[in-house]
Amino acid sequence: MREILDYHPAPLFRADSRTRRDRNSPKPYEHVVSISGGKDSTAVYLLAIERGMPFTAVFADTGNEHPATYEFVERLAERAGGPPIVTVKADFSKAMARKRAFILRNWERMGVSPERVERAAALMLPTGNPFLDLCMVKGRFPSAKSRFCTDETKLVPMWIGVERPILADGRTLIRWLGVRGEESLARRDLPGWQRMGDPVPYSLPKPHHAEASEQGWRTYVYRPIHHWVREDVFAMHARHGITPNPLYGWGAERVGCWPCIFVKKEELRLIAGIDPSAIDRLDEWESIVSDVSKRGVSTFFAAVDDPLFTPGVIVTTAGFGIRSFVEWSKTSRGGRQYDLMARFEAGASCVEIGVCE
Ligand code: SF4
Repeated sequence: MREILDYHPAPLFRADSRTRRDRNSPKPYEHVVSISGGKDSTAVYLLAIERGMPFTAVFADTGNEHPATYEFVERLAERAGGPPIVTVKADFSKAMARKRAFILRNWERMGVSPERVERAAALMLPTGNPFLDLCMVKGRFPSAKSRFCTDETKLVPMWIGVERPILADGRTLIRWLGVRGEESLARRDLPGWQRMGDPVPYSLPKPHHAEASEQGWRTYVYRPIHHWVREDVFAMHARHGITPNPLYGWGAERVGCWPCIFVKKEELRLIAGIDPSAIDRLDEWESIVSDVSKRGVSTFFAAVDDPLFTPGVIVTTAGFGIRSFVEWSKTSRGGRQYDLMARFEAGASCVEIGVCE
């Protein structure tokens, strides 16, 4: 087995250590490890345990994960003998109430039929599933050009639930992320350490950003496995007797949303094959989100990503919805060819943040 190369063999920071710059500061550090249920963030969690200093582990429940991922995260702390994993979950109930009031007040005079207004208002109630509730508020699914899912279902609840309280308490935040350079060109040149100019998720209103700046809150990103290769990550699991998330054994390359909006063609085919209920769920979500969309239609994958899309074509869930994409995923080379994953990498900020494996 290959030896795991840890290019920071000793912890750079202990909970009470100081950099030269902070030597006169009374503020201790707080280490936070983001857990996605995937192999890389699990390896970082295990590495943090080996380093032996106190840390907080946090998992953001998007509501769009496979049940095996929930079970894996739930049992990880006990199996690894590490600190409990805090689960945070976004709540869009207030935003949904505002959107419902907007629909009732404005849609009819904007040309929407009374029947559609009534149906949308009846549906615009919290389901408790963050991903679906967020898409209902937006009246659409996220896409490469409008990638609100990561920020609003992951980063904001982590910020509100875990990170902001640490900073408001006067401590410096160290975010440990499971990003590896070999995964893509976009990740290759990321630094192992990075001071974050503005640690506040972009979707939060200006006063949140102003508060962080005025208070002088200090946040660093730490990518301790940036130089590791895939085998190192699985070796780390083996060293701790942890069986990786079973989705890898079923053929998945990535663990995150099930599926992610940037899923690869072959992964979509895999998901449809081993878990048809995931496709049924997305089919139902497309119907719900379409009903609360003023345009009357919304598809899980952006219709404009389909090479058969031409300006002026009428978009329907039958023509561009999840079932249509699943059919496409079964085609061989020479069919409609386009690369959703390339768009994932194009969203570089999310790649840097690394909370979506
Ligand atoms: S895994 Fe994909 S769909 Fe889920 S939050 Fe991240 S980018 Fe969005």
